[in-house]
Amino acid sequence: MFKNLFAIFFFATITSSSIAQKKRDFTIAIVDPSNLLDAETKSHLTFAFNMQYPGFASADGYRTKRDVTLEVANNETETIKAKAGEIKVNSDWIQGKSLKKINNELKDALTKNWSFYSTEKHKGYKLTFISKDPNLDATVRQNLLDTYFEIYPTLVKTFNNKSTKDVLFVVDTAYKAVAEASGNRILFSAGYMKAHPTDIDVVTHETMHIVQGYGYSAGPVWLTEGIADYVRYKYGVDNVGSKWSLPAFNNKQSYTNSYRITARFFAWLEQNVKSGLIATLDQQLRAHQFTGESWANLTGKTIDQLWEDYSKNPNQVQLKYSDKKSK
Ligand SMILES: [Zn+2]
Repeated sequence: MFKNLFAIFFFATITSSSIAQKKRDFTIAIVDPSNLLDAETKSHLTFAFNMQYPGFASADGYRTKRDVTLEVANNETETIKAKAGEIKVNSDWIQGKSLKKINNELKDALTKNWSFYSTEKHKGYKLTFISKDPNLDATVRQNLLDTYFEIYPTLVKTFNNKSTKDVLFVVDTAYKAVAEASGNRILFSAGYMKAHPTDIDVVTHETMHIVQGYGYSAGPVWLTEGIADYVRYKYGVDNVGSKWSLPAFNNKQSYTNSYRITARFFAWLEQNVKSGLIATLDQQLRAHQFTGESWANLTGKTIDQLWEDYSKNPNQVQLKYSDKKSK
């Protein structure tokens, strides 16, 4: 997320003037009517902004302002204050500070907008954790972190070893659904986690979406979501603890119902039709080689024929759920 400082000095010496074009999605307007900042300080501030703000904004949320005003406000701050769209500096304090110092101070000032911020790395896998909820339970937070380090390496090794090893979790009070993944970032609803503190395998489902990385229009959404819930079923760390299970079959269901209904069908397919089928489909989707013919090519039957077989004998499947307490 936040680039390391080594890169800063490398770029600072050769391309500081071109950075503005490079990161053109974000703009900074420096308001300094009395000309209290010298040119070098302004250049350092602009550079630090381009290093820190895009990462802050993408972690902070979808609607975080992209156009930022930096104001000399000596009566409002003794140092530097920064939030979405607005940075304030004290000219006496900032003048003459090194680029490294300014960059670090800006990062710290931006990070203070969050209730919690940490980065951890284990065995090559990194997790940046941000909470915008001051009331996020510390145990829930730790469980989310632990579940990432417990499950994500397994999913990467099993399904897609080209997946990123640098993941960002954001717990946001403004986000009202359950959770969602985009790129390397997983957004969790603070309200949902408060109401469902044991549902830590949300991490398993969502990190599988990172591993999937199918891009656009690789296959139907029900298939992507069905695979993610099948993976939660098979690899989840505590489905018993969260009382999560695959719903029993009934005649109103369809494989396009997605999520757990599709996941139960997939468990049945794995046991009765073809072991390894879901991993193969996952690979085809990622390679953009999946088509409607894939089912017949892999199993000899169309998806509708497979579902019909399932509907005739839906209980011919052994379901086993992970249970943290029994480990
Ligand atoms: Zn999903």
